[in-house]
Amino acid sequence: MDLAPTEEQLLVQRTARDFAERVLIPKAPARDVSGEFPTAELKELAKLGLLAISVPDELGGAGAGTVAYSLAMQELARGDASVAVAVSVTNMVAELIALNASPALAKQWVPRLASGELVTGAFALSEPEAGSDPAAMRTLATKTASGWKISGTKQWITNGGHAGCMVVWAVTDPSAGHKGISAFVVDGKAPGVSVARLEEKLGLHGSATAQLVLENVEVGDDAVIGATGRGFALAMMALDGGRIGIASQAIGIARGALEAAVTYAKDRKTFGQEIIKHQAIGNMLADAATWLDASALMALRAAFLKEQKKPFSQEAAMAKLFATEHAWKICDIALQVHGGYGYVRDFPVERALRDVRVTRIYEGTSEIQRIVIARNLLRGLT
Ligand SMILES: Cc1cc2nc3c(=O)[nH]c(=O)nc-3n(C[C@H](O)[C@H](O)[C@H](O)COP(=O)(O)OP(=O)(O)OC[C@H]3O[C@@H](n4cnc5c(N)ncnc54)[C@H](O)[C@@H]3O)c2cc1C
Repeated sequence: MDLAPTEEQLLVQRTARDFAERVLIPKAPARDVSGEFPTAELKELAKLGLLAISVPDELGGAGAGTVAYSLAMQELARGDASVAVAVSVTNMVAELIALNASPALAKQWVPRLASGELVTGAFALSEPEAGSDPAAMRTLATKTASGWKISGTKQWITNGGHAGCMVVWAVTDPSAGHKGISAFVVDGKAPGVSVARLEEKLGLHGSATAQLVLENVEVGDDAVIGATGRGFALAMMALDGGRIGIASQAIGIARGALEAAVTYAKDRKTFGQEIIKHQAIGNMLADAATWLDASALMALRAAFLKEQKKPFSQEAAMAKLFATEHAWKICDIALQVHGGYGYVRDFPVERALRDVRVTRIYEGTSEIQRIVIARNLLRGLT
């Protein structure tokens, strides 16, 4: 395995880094306070080819692959984690439709997601009583003469209320358990779709997290992705890939926090010397830098395997578990290194600690990642 990025991967990474430096970092503190959804930024990212990086180019994506996607996600999350998660979900939705829907359905939605016309995509799987256990979902799709009528409540939907295109999971055959779940492409502005509430969160204030209600939302037979009954398998497959995105998001947030901590520790003096020269501070920063490096290598391996079309579920779960748990610790160390100044809004580490917390929860909690990993160990896959 070659660890050196290709020219194309480097170009995507540089483009994302430049955008983060120029646009995201200066605006992130204000967005954290205002909670403004980054519509303009997402449209600009689309123009730069960064909204659907791993989506095939024949459908309007950048076709740059999962490694490039992971590198870009890290840069965007270092700039503003709220913008990064909007990109991550849009990329995931566009890729899911591109690779699994009928060519006509893919052509109808994916180019408009990639171009930013639909700002953005939404992945509507979770429900108030079905998060870790999505097979417990209650949203129901009932057959009509020409399609389906979908009714139910979806909870925690990132980009909810903004998304022009949603993938919505619903039960099409209540007698078939998880094999009775199907995935539909739904117009985010379709009659019957409404935002019941917007969540007020600990962090990621620039990311919209909505409870969506669907009331007799009508879609055609051609809105089903793949075939009826395939929805659960599609969700699990998409989440495997999504975990690389969230691992990358956590790495980016942690990298920003660690950089801030090193800068601060080189400047701040106590007892007559820079605090980085106190061994206790140096040791904390050394641990953080080591965890960050290990996380980046794990994410890179999972992304590489996915790109090579090799099994990557175990590696993605391990990367997400390790990267998010350690990103949390890294952000905590970064805050500690700042002393009292870390606890206030003047420095970015306070926001980083709040923003990073959710990476241990969404797209499968750490407990669920351990279940995936242990199940694979049981099956003899290391
Ligand atoms: C900001 C935010 C954005 C989100 N965006 C989206 C989105 O865009 N689309 C979407 O569909 N969902 C989204 N989610 C939902 C997210 O994926 C779920 O919150 C997550 O899967 C956990 O589900 P839950 O909240 O229902 O917790 P629960 O499933 O109720 O879990 C509660 C606790 O029990 C633990 N637990 C559950 N089952 C087990 C088990 N078998 N063994 C051990 N421990 C267990 C969990 O790890 C957790 O600690 C988002 C969530 C948040 C907070």
